[in-house]
Amino acid sequence: MIQSKALERSLKLMFLIATVLLVASVPFSYFATSNAIMLLSLTWLIGLFVFPYKNRLKANPEVWLFVMIYLLHIIWIWNTSNYDYALEDLRKKLPLLVLPVIYASIPSFNRTGRDIILHIFLLAMIVSGIFIFLSRAGIMGDAGSNARNFSPFINHIRLSLMLSLGIFIAVWYIRKTSRLNQKLIYSLSAILFLASMVVLQVLTGLIITSLVAIILLILHFSRFKNNLLKRSILTGLIALPLALGLYLYSQIHAFYIPEDPYPKTFDIKTNQGNPYKHNLHSEQLENGNYVYRFVSFNEIENAWNERSQINYDSQSKNGYEIKHILIRFLTSKGEFKDAEAVQKLSKQEIRAIESGCTNVRFLDKKGLNSRLYALIWQIHMYYHGGNPSGKSLIQRIVYLETGWHIARDNLLTGVGTGDVNDSFMHQYREDNSPLQPQYRRRTHNQYVTILIAFGVFGFFLFLLGWFMPVIKKHGMKNFLFASFFLIATFSMLNEDSLETLTGATFISLFYSLFLWGINHKTMFQEKHMQKAIQLAKDNIPSGNGPFGAVIVKDGKIIAEASNSVTRNNDPTAHAEVNVIRKASENLKTFDLSGCEIYSSCEPCPMCLGAIYWARLDKLYFASDRKEAAEAGFSDEFIYDELGKNIRERSIPTRQMMQDNAKSVFTSWKDFENKIMY
Ligand SMILES: [Zn+2]
Repeated sequence: MIQSKALERSLKLMFLIATVLLVASVPFSYFATSNAIMLLSLTWLIGLFVFPYKNRLKANPEVWLFVMIYLLHIIWIWNTSNYDYALEDLRKKLPLLVLPVIYASIPSFNRTGRDIILHIFLLAMIVSGIFIFLSRAGIMGDAGSNARNFSPFINHIRLSLMLSLGIFIAVWYIRKTSRLNQKLIYSLSAILFLASMVVLQVLTGLIITSLVAIILLILHFSRFKNNLLKRSILTGLIALPLALGLYLYSQIHAFYIPEDPYPKTFDIKTNQGNPYKHNLHSEQLENGNYVYRFVSFNEIENAWNERSQINYDSQSKNGYEIKHILIRFLTSKGEFKDAEAVQKLSKQEIRAIESGCTNVRFLDKKGLNSRLYALIWQIHMYYHGGNPSGKSLIQRIVYLETGWHIARDNLLTGVGTGDVNDSFMHQYREDNSPLQPQYRRRTHNQYVTILIAFGVFGFFLFLLGWFMPVIKKHGMKNFLFASFFLIATFSMLNEDSLETLTGATFISLFYSLFLWGINHKTMFQEKHMQKAIQLAKDNIPSGNGPFGAVIVKDGKIIAEASNSVTRNNDPTAHAEVNVIRKASENLKTFDLSGCEIYSSCEPCPMCLGAIYWARLDKLYFASDRKEAAEAGFSDEFIYDELGKNIRERSIPTRQMMQDNAKSVFTSWKDFENKIMY
């Protein structure tokens, strides 16, 4: 072990820089992410000669449970036949091994480090959000009308998970800071992140964010003292699902009820005098209109071929037949499908149809409504015998069904990490799946993927590695970790979150950083001080002094008190004295060693004396005596008095009858049952 303060300090700085680079690159670049992990690992290797990693690892033994998730992947190679895939998988998931080991062994980041890391992450999310809006506005990139392309650098679902985490980090800072302008900036960031998710149209992300918000509110509900706040939260908890339900109802209603219904009679002709065709068996709808009614196939074919380079019988840019897209698009406009309707199409509409746009509502409304409309359409079609190919939601159901078949057939040991893909392709063939080959993919559910790869036994170990460290470390008590953990846990129901480098990095980075990498003690300390400050604030309306204090033992508050000088007509009833009295009473001892005191303000000499008498381990205070003096509470002068000679003090002080008092101490010294304190 090399002992050098300068070396230690520069390595600590390198850890911070590498971590900052890592949080800044995950949302943008696969390449930069790998490099940041390399830099972090290299610094860690050098640190082997400087820091006692062993001691920290011994204090964080649960990290090995999390690392077990990666070790499972190594062990299960015996069970795999596709080695290329298995090795590639091991490479992609390396962050699951590297990051927890690093953050559980290096010196943890203090408050400043934490704030730098989190603010860089927030900044990265702000930049991502701006990019999303720029692509939507068409200023940047060539996203077209497909919302998932608005995320220019990484998968849009993964980005939405990061944005969701950004929202909760911003909320955490809103609650922490007392400065109004900072609160405003954090609020605006949170709103930007939420709006970006709406633009990305990632329902998964939005649903997860609301779920996590509701759970966190319930978890923290009992802590809110303010009744009005409690009532508004309760109202929100009831109103939100209600509003969502109403919104969903209105969208489904809009899907089935036509905006401009066709006539009841089929007995009419086109302007050119041709009869319309009607397929009364087709239930296909667009904006509530039946698609295959009032169609003059000949007319639209000719009219279309006059207007577009892409032939009526050929395929659109995204691989669907132009003729069906055209008919659906015209239907969505409430038009009869004839020559006149095609001639009326704008140039923009023609281009949209050529690139596969099936509904006029997708043209200008790129928002959530369109996404929801597409989902309702998919469900409607699936239950009327439609093919699931290319329908994102329905495909997911097919993936899950297929995945379940594979898991069931390999329940004990799984198929091995390398063979998950191959097994899926095999199962699709076996099941004679209606999915077209290009849409045959593995299930978008991390838990099912693990079950398929490792079998029930491995699945159980995975759950152990994922949940146990959280229980051991009381992770759910920590707002930042709890919000991240809930996001990640929910996301794995709907995504193979760990199956890519970006996903594995995002998840193992924040898991390890929040659980091991950041010094929790500071966080709890901040919480205790926040409590003392709140007590001070709450004391003002009743006309008492603006001071509060709490005493903490083993991380738990055992007594809290505020100043009660005016309430009790007791000039010694300062918050610190009051809280020491309460704590001693609660613990039934006059010796408070093992406890720490948090005071909203630097203690006056009387309280400082009391703190020494109580043998408290440590004193934390927020405001200092200068600020107290500015507010009219000057104890500065008492501090000055202490240093003065007795005769110079402002209270006339005189010693007398020293001889008479001598016998008191003689008796005390002779007393056998005395209790020393
Ligand atoms: Zn005091």
